[in-house]
Amino acid sequence: MSDVALSLTEIKKLYNAGKPNEIAVLRGAELQVQRGEVVALVAPSGAGKSTLLHIAGLLDTPDEGQVQIAGEDLTGRSDRARTNARRSQIGFVYQFHHLLPEFTAAENIILPQLAAGVSQREAAARAEDLLGKVGVATRSDHRPGALSGGEQQRVAFCRALANSPGLLLADEPTGNLDPETSDQVFDALMGLARETGLAALIATHNMELAGRMDRTVRLEQGVLV
Ligand code: ADP
Repeated sequence: MSDVALSLTEIKKLYNAGKPNEIAVLRGAELQVQRGEVVALVAPSGAGKSTLLHIAGLLDTPDEGQVQIAGEDLTGRSDRARTNARRSQIGFVYQFHHLLPEFTAAENIILPQLAAGVSQREAAARAEDLLGKVGVATRSDHRPGALSGGEQQRVAFCRALANSPGLLLADEPTGNLDPETSDQVFDALMGLARETGLAALIATHNMELAGRMDRTVRLEQGVLV
């Protein structure tokens, strides 16, 4: 298994190519995230953070450059190959939890596992285990609407990690939370990452949180520095 969980090489992305409002969002962005490494992605709003995360997460394709996940080059591969790689190797967390409202916390973590062919029993055990690790075991039977913002986000992390991906991508996962809750959610995430050897790229505006990650990269003028 490759020690590099995510490798981005010379990534370029233009929007509105050839039109007067053409914008070169990424101009040769380079990044490697090692297994077990948690990297902060810091950039002003509009700099292209979401674009970069979508490309790293195989939800969007760059105009130029290469995306490797766990050593496999997925540039130019079929949609099916990219979808398979995304489902098995990448977990996503967004600023808003996007949990399914009609299902309990545990069910939200069980469902993606069932879709991946895991048995109900194993999936339920893993859900309880993950919820325990982030300190919300007692909320497993609650629907998202009955959870606090911090609890919802911790459940969203568990769901992202349900199928044990090697890479977590997060787009301002604590952006919606007060500072104290944000700290708790971040601690829960770091605990999980350290325990599982997860690699993570986490976009944040919070410099204090960024300082607690292994490394910070900044997106400036379309490149990572
Ligand atoms: P960030 O996440 O850093 O706020 P984004 O990646 O969302 O930035 O967007 C970067 C720039 O690209 C912005 O100027 C945005 O308006 C533009 N942009 C994003 N998506 C599209 C799109 N689908 N079509 C055209 N322009 C886009």
